[in-house]
Amino acid sequence: MPDYSVRVGDVEITALSDGYLEFEPSNFFPNVPEEDWQPYLDQLTDEGRILLNIGSFVVRSSGATVLIDTGLGGVDHGFDHSESGQLLGDMSERGISPDEIDVVAITHLHLDHVGGNLILRDRGYEPTFRNAKYWIPRADWVMFTRRSGMKMFSYIKDQVTPLEPLGLLEFIEGGEQITDVLTAVPTPGHTPGHTSFWVSSASENAVILGDAAHMPIQAHHTDWNPRADVDNETSPVSRREILDRAEKESAVVASGHFPKPGFGRLSRQDGVRRWQAL
Ligand SMILES: [Zn+2]
Repeated sequence: MPDYSVRVGDVEITALSDGYLEFEPSNFFPNVPEEDWQPYLDQLTDEGRILLNIGSFVVRSSGATVLIDTGLGGVDHGFDHSESGQLLGDMSERGISPDEIDVVAITHLHLDHVGGNLILRDRGYEPTFRNAKYWIPRADWVMFTRRSGMKMFSYIKDQVTPLEPLGLLEFIEGGEQITDVLTAVPTPGHTPGHTSFWVSSASENAVILGDAAHMPIQAHHTDWNPRADVDNETSPVSRREILDRAEKESAVVASGHFPKPGFGRLSRQDGVRRWQAL
């Protein structure tokens, strides 16, 4: 059984899961021809599909406890093969209470990253994490609140915009120090404000990628762009830069969409960069 918590200096990072999503490879990576998958069939399910974990991470230091992303929750998304809504149960199994969370840091405003932000009660919206401020990339706020009238983005009205009147919203402009050990790193492309989070403590490092990469294959194939990327030119540049930095600094590379629990390190074999699970 893999370890769901890792230590990075004086920080403990715990992996949580809200469920999973499945996709057809040709649909998920439209710029990758079928033959290019041949060496990597072991990274697909027995049915030849992509299985993505819906992962979140809790970053605990002496100063603060941060939850990165809140899963898909109960958002109606119309995907055929998926399961969600498991985040709070998983959290409780790992001995973490929602009330311990001081900061919710959101990598971007896609539905599978914000679905557990709020709960609708009779008297209105309440934060799932009632002692937390919610940090959200401003460039995503601008784009997604504009689109919230569209059915596809209606979850924004349930899970994101109510944070503002509740007084719980903080904006990530880019590069902020969120806590004494956690820094926002702009990795635009997947969405305009997409943010990865860098953890640094006692000379050790980790990075929470967010959707700068969806599969370990992209450690090498940084030019494999998912359909969901808003900007196909910026996205591979951000992906390469953050992975290059992680490799250079021997950082633990954590990704919510990589196979659970999603902790690994980068190494090279014959010039090919691989993400190796811890
Ligand atoms: Zn995602």
